[in-house]
Amino acid sequence: MEEMITVVGAGPIGLRTAIKLKETGWDVTVLEEHQEIGVPCNCSGLLSASGLHQTGIDFSNITANKIYGAKIFSPDKTMLEIRRKKPVAMLIDRAGLDKQLAKEAGKKGIQIRKNTKMIDVRKDTVFLQHKERGEMLKSRFVIGADGAASKTRRLVMQKINPKAFVRTIQVTAKGSFEEDVVEVHVGDFCKGFFAWVIPENKNTARIGLGVNGSTNSKEAFNKFIKEMDIEILNESYFVIPIGKPVKDIQKDNLFLVGDAAYQTKATTGGGIITGSVASDMLVKTISDHLKHKKPLTDYWKNLSSLNKELELHWKARNYFNSLNEKQLNSLFHKMKKAKMEEFLSEHGDMDFPSKFMRKMMLSPSKWGLLPMGLKFLFS
Ligand SMILES: Cc1cc2nc3c(=O)[nH]c(=O)nc-3n(C[C@H](O)[C@H](O)[C@H](O)COP(=O)(O)OP(=O)(O)OC[C@H]3O[C@@H](n4cnc5c(N)ncnc54)[C@H](O)[C@@H]3O)c2cc1C
Repeated sequence: MEEMITVVGAGPIGLRTAIKLKETGWDVTVLEEHQEIGVPCNCSGLLSASGLHQTGIDFSNITANKIYGAKIFSPDKTMLEIRRKKPVAMLIDRAGLDKQLAKEAGKKGIQIRKNTKMIDVRKDTVFLQHKERGEMLKSRFVIGADGAASKTRRLVMQKINPKAFVRTIQVTAKGSFEEDVVEVHVGDFCKGFFAWVIPENKNTARIGLGVNGSTNSKEAFNKFIKEMDIEILNESYFVIPIGKPVKDIQKDNLFLVGDAAYQTKATTGGGIITGSVASDMLVKTISDHLKHKKPLTDYWKNLSSLNKELELHWKARNYFNSLNEKQLNSLFHKMKKAKMEEFLSEHGDMDFPSKFMRKMMLSPSKWGLLPMGLKFLFS
């Protein structure tokens, strides 16, 4: 069988890329190692309201909750509260998102081969395993959208940084929750990332945390929920790629996109919106190549404005990770004093920090925090 383009992975970014390629006129097949699309689900499913339109996806049937703000707690429990009159984020049914995209792909005539695992790629030959049996597929281009633990990444990148990941644990739990705000907690117990409580409604929430290095995520999580009166319904463990934008994401006829290409925000770990933006750039690169013979290496060039934002997320993550608990507490106190809650409520942007930084520069009352801003920019 010969295909123009093979996409490895039927997650949101692989499916979205396949749909966009098909709409542009190219034949595409998607390989998915699992039998059921969207399962297992390793995601909180929180998307900024301002970034939703970047995905071009209709979320109306898969929205589980609307979020109006966040309460962010320092180690000494100083709270910064950000709140808006309109929703700042949507909580979605993440498995539902993947299923919806798979349905749309099917309607457009894209073949999704479930229970089919990509094993290797040699030039234009893709080696697969389908129900324990080996198969081969000829394909002009192969796109690795196979997520955080990508196998395609090993075929494309010269060097993979094993430290560029955080390990996460997330549970769905019954309890009593504030329905329209998320909680974020930082401190040494979840060094390198943060802990979260995202309400689905008053009675259930997605609760989790991420850690880096050698911290035991389960022990950290037990510490976090010690005082909570909750009943855990299910739990999942996964990793999030947290690194600076990596150039090594295209080699010959192979490409990486989404989590496979580290296109996640290092501040929050979110990757659905940024991966969608990158997916558009990949479709453009392949189309420009096929139609106008433009080089495939343009992928990196086409990603430049997204990469600038990802770089800012990465610098912010590095800056926060460099602070000890005492410094974090002091930062929260300074931010409170500088009325950053109001400012963030009005101007905060979960996806594109450059917009927020510009607003900071134009606001003299916030210049007192600029040394901190400069420190993170140059860290
Ligand atoms: C705990 C947690 C919470 C998160 N919360 C959020 C959030 O609130 N908002 C947000 O935007 N992002 C969040 N993320 C990140 C988000 O889940 C990812 O950015 C997103 O799933 C990336 O999509 P993807 O399509 O690149 O990869 P994935 O969704 O991981 O999909 C990859 C697909 O490839 C398949 N696959 C893998 N290897 C192979 C193979 N060899 N052959 C065939 N198929 C294969 C997998 O089965 C999977 O279906 C979170 C992540 C975690 C771990």
